[in-house]
Amino acid sequence: MRDARTGAAGVLAGLVAGGGVVILSGAGLSTESGIPDYRGQTGRSRRAEPVTYQAFTASAAARQRYWARSHSGWRHIARATPNAGHRVVAELEQRGLLAGIITQNVDGLHQAAGARQVTELHGSLHRVVCLGCGRRATRERLGRRLCAANPDWNASPSGLNPDGDAVLAGPDVARFQVVDCEDCGGLLKPDVVFFGENVPPARVQQCYQLTGGARALVVLGSSLTVMSGYRFVRHAAKLAIPVAIVNQGPTRGDAHALLTLDAPLGRALTALAGALASPASLTAPSGLRSGHTGR
Ligand SMILES: [Zn+2]
Repeated sequence: MRDARTGAAGVLAGLVAGGGVVILSGAGLSTESGIPDYRGQTGRSRRAEPVTYQAFTASAAARQRYWARSHSGWRHIARATPNAGHRVVAELEQRGLLAGIITQNVDGLHQAAGARQVTELHGSLHRVVCLGCGRRATRERLGRRLCAANPDWNASPSGLNPDGDAVLAGPDVARFQVVDCEDCGGLLKPDVVFFGENVPPARVQQCYQLTGGARALVVLGSSLTVMSGYRFVRHAAKLAIPVAIVNQGPTRGDAHALLTLDAPLGRALTALAGALASPASLTAPSGLRSGHTGR
Protein backbone atom coordinates (compact mmCIF):
# COMPACT_ATOMS: atom_id res chain seq x y z
CA MET A 1 0.00 0.00 0.00
CA ARG A 2 2.87 2.35 0.64
CA ASP A 3 5.84 0.64 -0.96
CA ALA A 4 7.38 0.18 -4.37
CA ARG A 5 3.95 -0.27 -5.95
CA THR A 6 3.23 3.40 -5.40
CA GLY A 7 6.69 4.33 -6.64
CA ALA A 8 8.24 5.05 -3.26
CA ALA A 9 11.53 3.48 -4.37
CA GLY A 10 11.65 5.77 -7.38
CA VAL A 11 10.83 8.81 -5.28
CA LEU A 12 13.53 7.82 -2.80
CA ALA A 13 16.05 7.57 -5.63
CA GLY A 14 14.97 10.96 -6.95
CA LEU A 15 15.36 12.46 -3.50
CA VAL A 16 18.83 10.99 -2.99
CA ALA A 17 19.96 11.94 -6.49
CA GLY A 18 19.47 15.58 -5.52
CA GLY A 19 22.27 15.29 -2.96
CA GLY A 20 22.62 16.98 0.43
CA VAL A 21 21.12 13.95 2.15
CA VAL A 22 21.56 13.21 5.83
CA ILE A 23 21.28 9.54 6.74
CA LEU A 24 19.92 8.48 10.13
CA SER A 25 20.60 4.78 10.61
CA GLY A 26 19.54 2.27 13.24
CA ALA A 27 19.86 -1.37 14.23
CA GLY A 28 17.81 -2.56 11.25
CA LEU A 29 20.70 -1.67 8.96
CA SER A 30 23.02 -4.06 10.78
CA THR A 31 20.77 -7.11 11.14
CA GLU A 32 22.00 -8.44 7.78
CA SER A 33 25.50 -8.36 9.28
CA GLY A 34 24.33 -10.79 11.94
CA ILE A 35 23.81 -8.23 14.67
CA PRO A 36 20.34 -8.73 16.13
CA ASP A 37 17.81 -5.93 16.22
CA TYR A 38 16.02 -4.91 19.38
CA ARG A 39 12.67 -5.32 17.72
CA GLY A 40 11.11 -5.53 14.30
CA GLN A 41 11.02 -8.18 11.65
CA THR A 42 13.64 -10.43 13.21
CA GLY A 43 10.99 -11.15 15.82
CA ARG A 44 13.50 -11.17 18.61
CA SER A 45 13.04 -9.02 21.60
CA ARG A 46 15.67 -8.06 24.10
CA ARG A 47 16.55 -10.89 26.41
CA ALA A 48 17.45 -8.75 29.35
CA GLU A 49 17.09 -5.22 30.55
CA PRO A 50 20.24 -3.26 29.69
CA VAL A 51 22.30 -1.95 32.55
CA THR A 52 21.67 1.69 33.36
CA TYR A 53 24.43 4.25 33.80
CA GLN A 54 23.39 4.66 37.41
CA ALA A 55 23.62 0.92 38.19
CA PHE A 56 26.89 0.56 36.29
CA THR A 57 28.63 3.34 38.18
CA ALA A 58 27.16 2.45 41.58
CA SER A 59 27.57 -1.32 41.70
CA ALA A 60 30.64 -3.53 41.30
CA ALA A 61 28.30 -6.48 40.67
CA ALA A 62 26.62 -4.61 37.82
CA ARG A 63 30.01 -3.86 36.25
CA GLN A 64 31.12 -7.46 36.62
CA ARG A 65 27.90 -8.60 34.94
CA TYR A 66 28.27 -6.01 32.18
CA TRP A 67 31.91 -6.76 31.37
CA ALA A 68 31.51 -10.55 31.54
CA ARG A 69 28.62 -10.40 29.08
CA SER A 70 30.31 -7.76 26.92
CA HIS A 71 33.61 -9.68 26.83
CA SER A 72 31.74 -12.73 25.63
CA GLY A 73 29.61 -10.83 23.08
CA TRP A 74 32.44 -8.67 21.79
CA ARG A 75 33.94 -11.43 19.67
CA HIS A 76 30.68 -11.58 17.75
CA ILE A 77 30.50 -7.82 17.22
CA ALA A 78 34.19 -7.63 16.29
CA ARG A 79 33.72 -10.36 13.67
CA ALA A 80 30.69 -8.69 12.05
CA THR A 81 31.33 -7.23 8.61
CA PRO A 82 29.43 -4.54 6.68
CA ASN A 83 26.53 -5.67 4.52
CA ALA A 84 25.20 -4.41 1.17
CA GLY A 85 23.30 -1.61 2.93
CA HIS A 86 26.42 -0.20 4.61
CA ARG A 87 28.29 -0.45 1.32
CA VAL A 88 25.63 1.51 -0.57
CA VAL A 89 25.66 4.25 2.09
CA ALA A 90 29.46 4.52 1.76
CA GLU A 91 29.08 4.64 -2.01
CA LEU A 92 26.51 7.47 -1.76
CA GLU A 93 28.99 9.38 0.37
CA GLN A 94 31.80 8.79 -2.11
CA ARG A 95 29.54 10.07 -4.88
CA GLY A 96 29.06 13.30 -2.95
CA LEU A 97 25.34 12.79 -2.32
CA LEU A 98 25.47 12.86 1.50
CA ALA A 99 25.84 15.78 3.88
CA GLY A 100 26.49 13.34 6.72
CA ILE A 101 25.57 10.10 8.46
CA ILE A 102 24.07 9.97 11.94
CA THR A 103 23.98 6.45 13.30
CA GLN A 104 22.33 5.07 16.39
CA ASN A 105 24.45 1.94 15.96
CA VAL A 106 27.53 1.30 18.07
CA ASP A 107 29.00 -1.40 15.82
CA GLY A 108 31.30 0.72 13.62
CA LEU A 109 30.02 -0.94 10.44
CA HIS A 110 29.44 2.30 8.49
CA GLN A 111 33.13 3.14 8.87
CA ALA A 112 34.15 -0.44 8.16
CA ALA A 113 32.33 -0.08 4.82
CA GLY A 114 34.36 3.04 4.04
CA ALA A 115 32.04 5.85 5.18
CA ARG A 116 33.85 8.83 6.72
CA GLN A 117 31.39 11.49 7.87
CA VAL A 118 29.79 9.35 10.57
CA THR A 119 28.43 10.77 13.81
CA GLU A 120 27.99 7.95 16.29
CA LEU A 121 25.03 9.27 18.27
CA HIS A 122 25.29 6.58 20.93
CA GLY A 123 29.06 6.16 20.80
CA SER A 124 31.00 3.08 19.78
CA LEU A 125 31.63 -0.34 21.25
CA HIS A 126 35.06 -0.16 19.65
CA ARG A 127 36.26 2.30 22.29
CA VAL A 128 36.47 2.28 26.07
CA VAL A 129 36.54 5.39 28.27
CA CYS A 130 37.90 5.78 31.81
CA LEU A 131 35.39 7.51 34.08
CA GLY A 132 38.28 8.65 36.27
CA CYS A 133 40.73 10.32 33.89
CA GLY A 134 38.70 10.41 30.67
CA ARG A 135 41.30 8.48 28.69
CA ARG A 136 39.96 6.56 25.73
CA ALA A 137 41.42 3.30 24.51
CA THR A 138 40.46 0.67 22.00
CA ARG A 139 38.11 -2.13 22.93
CA GLU A 140 40.61 -4.49 21.40
CA ARG A 141 43.23 -3.51 23.96
CA LEU A 142 40.76 -3.97 26.80
CA GLY A 143 39.83 -7.35 25.32
CA ARG A 144 43.45 -8.47 25.59
CA ARG A 145 43.63 -7.28 29.21
CA LEU A 146 40.38 -9.06 30.08
CA CYS A 147 41.64 -12.27 28.47
CA ALA A 148 44.83 -12.01 30.52
CA ALA A 149 42.86 -11.42 33.72
CA ASN A 150 40.54 -14.36 32.98
CA PRO A 151 42.81 -17.06 31.50
CA ASP A 152 40.51 -20.02 32.12
CA TRP A 153 37.22 -18.24 31.53
CA ASN A 154 35.37 -19.56 28.49
CA ALA A 155 31.65 -19.00 28.84
CA SER A 156 29.24 -19.91 26.07
CA PRO A 157 26.50 -17.33 25.65
CA SER A 158 22.93 -18.43 24.99
CA GLY A 159 22.03 -15.26 23.08
CA LEU A 160 23.21 -11.84 22.01
CA ASN A 161 21.77 -8.35 22.17
CA PRO A 162 22.60 -5.69 19.54
CA ASP A 163 24.88 -3.79 21.88
CA GLY A 164 27.15 -6.82 22.18
CA ASP A 165 25.58 -7.89 25.45
CA ALA A 166 25.72 -11.70 25.53
CA VAL A 167 23.41 -13.80 27.69
CA LEU A 168 25.44 -15.76 30.26
CA ALA A 169 24.71 -18.09 33.14
CA GLY A 170 25.14 -16.67 36.64
CA PRO A 171 28.22 -18.73 37.59
CA ASP A 172 30.07 -17.54 34.47
CA VAL A 173 29.44 -13.96 35.51
CA ALA A 174 30.40 -14.59 39.15
CA ARG A 175 33.92 -15.78 38.38
CA PHE A 176 34.72 -13.02 35.86
CA GLN A 177 37.48 -10.58 36.81
CA VAL A 178 36.98 -6.94 35.82
CA VAL A 179 39.97 -4.69 35.12
CA ASP A 180 40.30 -0.95 35.79
CA CYS A 181 42.12 1.92 34.05
CA GLU A 182 45.83 1.27 33.59
CA ASP A 183 46.65 4.92 34.29
CA CYS A 184 44.49 5.95 37.23
CA GLY A 185 42.68 2.82 38.44
CA GLY A 186 39.35 4.40 37.49
CA LEU A 187 36.26 2.59 36.25
CA LEU A 188 36.22 1.62 32.60
CA LYS A 189 33.03 1.97 30.62
CA PRO A 190 32.40 1.26 26.96
CA ASP A 191 32.31 4.58 25.06
CA VAL A 192 28.60 4.18 24.43
CA VAL A 193 25.62 6.05 25.81
CA PHE A 194 23.93 3.84 28.38
CA PHE A 195 20.28 3.86 29.26
CA GLY A 196 19.81 6.55 31.89
CA GLU A 197 22.58 8.62 30.33
CA ASN A 198 22.21 11.53 27.90
CA VAL A 199 23.86 11.87 24.52
CA PRO A 200 26.52 14.61 25.01
CA PRO A 201 24.83 17.98 24.23
CA ALA A 202 27.51 19.05 21.73
CA ARG A 203 26.90 15.88 19.74
CA VAL A 204 23.13 16.45 19.78
CA GLN A 205 23.64 20.03 18.63
CA GLN A 206 25.88 18.92 15.81
CA CYS A 207 23.19 16.48 14.65
CA TYR A 208 20.49 19.18 14.80
CA GLN A 209 22.68 21.42 12.65
CA LEU A 210 23.39 18.67 10.20
CA THR A 211 19.69 17.80 9.95
CA GLY A 212 18.66 21.45 9.68
CA GLY A 213 20.98 21.97 6.72
CA ALA A 214 19.94 18.81 4.88
CA ARG A 215 18.05 18.71 1.61
CA ALA A 216 16.49 15.47 2.81
CA LEU A 217 16.67 13.15 5.81
CA VAL A 218 16.71 9.44 5.02
CA VAL A 219 16.09 7.04 7.90
CA LEU A 220 17.52 3.55 7.41
CA GLY A 221 16.51 0.67 9.64
CA SER A 222 15.15 2.38 12.71
CA SER A 223 11.71 2.16 14.24
CA LEU A 224 12.54 5.56 15.82
CA THR A 225 11.27 4.33 19.16
CA VAL A 226 14.04 6.10 21.02
CA MET A 227 13.74 9.88 21.25
CA SER A 228 17.47 10.39 20.70
CA GLY A 229 16.99 9.64 16.99
CA TYR A 230 13.32 10.50 16.56
CA ARG A 231 13.92 14.14 17.52
CA PHE A 232 15.89 14.69 14.31
CA VAL A 233 12.97 13.42 12.25
CA ARG A 234 10.68 15.85 14.05
CA HIS A 235 13.22 18.62 13.53
CA ALA A 236 13.40 17.95 9.79
CA ALA A 237 9.61 17.78 9.50
CA LYS A 238 9.25 21.08 11.34
CA LEU A 239 11.62 22.70 8.83
CA ALA A 240 9.73 21.13 5.89
CA ILE A 241 12.78 19.07 4.98
CA PRO A 242 11.57 15.90 3.27
CA VAL A 243 11.93 12.73 5.34
CA ALA A 244 12.16 9.28 3.77
CA ILE A 245 12.03 6.14 5.92
CA VAL A 246 13.26 2.72 4.84
CA ASN A 247 12.50 0.17 7.53
CA GLN A 248 10.96 -3.24 7.99
CA GLY A 249 7.73 -2.49 9.77
CA PRO A 250 6.06 0.76 10.82
CA THR A 251 7.98 3.47 12.65
CA ARG A 252 7.14 6.24 15.03
CA GLY A 253 8.18 8.75 12.35
CA ASP A 254 5.87 7.55 9.57
CA ALA A 255 3.44 10.44 10.00
CA HIS A 256 6.30 12.88 9.32
CA ALA A 257 7.57 11.07 6.24
CA LEU A 258 7.23 12.09 2.62
CA LEU A 259 7.67 8.41 1.80
CA THR A 260 8.09 5.14 3.63
CA LEU A 261 9.54 1.98 2.16
CA ASP A 262 8.87 -1.25 4.05
CA ALA A 263 11.59 -3.56 2.79
CA PRO A 264 14.77 -5.40 3.83
CA LEU A 265 17.52 -2.79 3.96
CA GLY A 266 20.13 -4.57 1.86
CA ARG A 267 17.68 -5.17 -0.96
CA ALA A 268 16.16 -1.66 -0.81
CA LEU A 269 19.56 0.04 -0.82
CA THR A 270 20.95 -2.15 -3.58
CA ALA A 271 17.90 -1.20 -5.66
CA LEU A 272 18.52 2.45 -4.79
CA ALA A 273 22.11 2.22 -6.00
CA GLY A 274 20.86 0.60 -9.20
CA ALA A 275 18.25 3.32 -9.76
CA LEU A 276 20.86 6.04 -9.25
CA ALA A 277 22.99 4.37 -11.89
CA SER A 278 20.14 4.64 -14.42
CA PRO A 279 18.74 8.16 -14.09
CA ALA A 280 15.74 7.40 -16.32
CA SER A 281 14.18 5.47 -13.44
CA LEU A 282 14.24 8.40 -11.04
CA THR A 283 11.01 10.02 -9.98
CA ALA A 284 11.05 13.69 -9.16
CA PRO A 285 9.98 14.02 -5.53
CA SER A 286 8.68 17.54 -6.05
CA GLY A 287 5.28 16.33 -7.16
CA LEU A 288 4.49 14.73 -3.81
CA ARG A 289 4.72 17.76 -1.64
CA SER A 290 5.33 21.33 -2.64
CA GLY A 291 7.92 23.65 -1.26
CA HIS A 292 11.08 21.52 -1.25
CA THR A 293 13.28 23.45 -3.52
CA GLY A 294 16.98 22.87 -3.02
CA ARG A 295 18.02 23.84 0.45
ZN1 LIG B 1 41.90 6.49 34.09
